[in-house]
Amino acid sequence: MPRTFQGRLTLGFVAVVAITLGLVGAIVLNRLGAYFDQQQQDDLNSRATAVAEFVRGITENASPLRPIVSDNATINRLVVAELQRGQNQQLLANTLAQADVTIRLGWLTDDAAPRFVAAANGTFSAVLDEEIAKPAVGQTREALTSDPYVVAVPPRDYAIEVVLSNPYTYRAVAIGNVTGLLAIIGLVALAVAVVLAATLARRFTTPLRRLTEASRDLAEGDLARRVPDEAIHGGAIELSELGLQFNAMAARLQESVEIIRRDRDRSREFLADVSHELRTPIAALRTFNELLVEGAADDPSTRLEFLEASRAQLERLDWLAQNLLELSKLDSGLVLLDLRRDDLRAAVEQAVDGSMTIARRRDITLSLELPDHQVVIRHDPVRISQVVSNLVNNAVKFTPRGGSVRVTARDAAGGGATIEVADTGIGIEPAELPRIFDRFFRGSRASEARGSGSGLGLAIVRSIVEMHGGSVAVESRLGQGSTFRVTLPAQPSLEPPSPPGPVVETSSSGPKNLNPQPAP
Ligand code: ADP
Repeated sequence: MPRTFQGRLTLGFVAVVAITLGLVGAIVLNRLGAYFDQQQQDDLNSRATAVAEFVRGITENASPLRPIVSDNATINRLVVAELQRGQNQQLLANTLAQADVTIRLGWLTDDAAPRFVAAANGTFSAVLDEEIAKPAVGQTREALTSDPYVVAVPPRDYAIEVVLSNPYTYRAVAIGNVTGLLAIIGLVALAVAVVLAATLARRFTTPLRRLTEASRDLAEGDLARRVPDEAIHGGAIELSELGLQFNAMAARLQESVEIIRRDRDRSREFLADVSHELRTPIAALRTFNELLVEGAADDPSTRLEFLEASRAQLERLDWLAQNLLELSKLDSGLVLLDLRRDDLRAAVEQAVDGSMTIARRRDITLSLELPDHQVVIRHDPVRISQVVSNLVNNAVKFTPRGGSVRVTARDAAGGGATIEVADTGIGIEPAELPRIFDRFFRGSRASEARGSGSGLGLAIVRSIVEMHGGSVAVESRLGQGSTFRVTLPAQPSLEPPSPPGPVVETSSSGPKNLNPQPAP
């Protein structure tokens, strides 16, 4: 039994054809046999008739006046002599009957169903002489005996019975010829069936083979491998469907692996960034410590200055650690939002209040515009407050003295709410806009503007907003100010957020969380 699908298909097809041919052949031969038997019978009957007629002629000529069967139930002597004559017998067997002939003379009984009774001396045999009567082409002798043919001759009151045996016939040769022909046709049909079946099976299994090759390559790591189009569209519908599904699966697999790779690369970058960020305050602390050990502690004012500077670095380390912890929790999905249907105005107001002191200290006008009515959406008030706080602190940080920061909250068209934080600050370089939501990204003008952040504030903003199923966008003009716009849906969807996509002038955001950014 072949192991391949193609082999089995071919074998199955050929087997069906062979069985069909076999059955057809058997039926045809059977019908032909019956037909030839009938022909044979008719032929023997007509030969027997001719023999009987000839015997009748001989009989009547031999004894035209005297009875053929005498009163003592014997055949006239002259008739017997005539029928035993070699010449007559040869004519009967070799020419008329083309068979061994047995002739009996006698009479019919007077019963309702007359029966032939042979006279005691009324049996004559003539044997076919194959030397003299050679068979015609296609003839052979068959070992069969015909039914007795009886003819009554009423005027003379006697009857003739003829039986032919071992006749020359065409039957065996004819059947042999037909059988041979059928066998040749069968073999040719079988050969055609084998070729046809192999071709069809190959055609049928080609898409399967392509699919197998593609699966193997995929399994070996070639994620870009697909089943070629011609294999998909050239096969049966079921196989096309399978090919399409395979390609769709391979595409999803490739996409997932790419996402995982990107995540891995991002994690590496993140780790590198984290170590870099930690090194700066630690190096500063070590320097202060060494200086103090080396004697700087002797001067009280210098000692105080170093201790103050060390405290600032420790605060920075603490703040970094808290934010990093928060970000990693958000990333790993450990943070669950405490979602509740609540008035968004409260969360916004609380954040603005928290930044009021620092704004005032920096001589910046911080204003808040809220609708008169409640803005009820499902959100986590503490984390949304954190978002607003981060944005407002940035706005204050990057706005020169005398500037203003305006915070607005309102219902969004189509449900949900929008929070806007607009400042009249230094603005953001257009080239940097797409990156400001990245972790550890700090704008080139950040330090100019006394910004001492570490680039985590907006990453946290984006994470929290995305966790709410919302988005964050930014518009900015250098030297004129920036506006951050957070849009939140009325009901956060439970689906995981799509990958973040900050854009020039607009940037979306995602889930995360945060600690208030300390004032620099
Ligand atoms: P940090 O403020 O700690 O540096 P953020 O993630 O909050 O980090 O901000 C990233 C960068 O985006 C900042 O360094 C700054 O360049 C830019 N940025 C953020 N907010 C503003 C703003 N309101 N005006 C101008 N630049 C801003």
